[in-house]
Amino acid sequence: MQKIKCSVCSCMYNEPNKNLCALKDIQVCPCTDCKSGAPETETCCGSYKKA
Ligand code: SF4
Repeated sequence: MQKIKCSVCSCMYNEPNKNLCALKDIQVCPCTDCKSGAPETETCCGSYKKA
């Protein structure tokens, strides 16, 4: 079974005390205006929903 570790605590699917995403799977998307090659500006979680 896949485990998605995530520390985005503003997301409704985040379980901050476990550092986990509660979803079975997620969609990872490219950020808009990327091309920097830096991880923090190239990818983001497309399944994020504000808590
Ligand atoms: S949906 Fe994405 S941002 Fe939200 S907890 Fe899961 S992995 Fe983290």
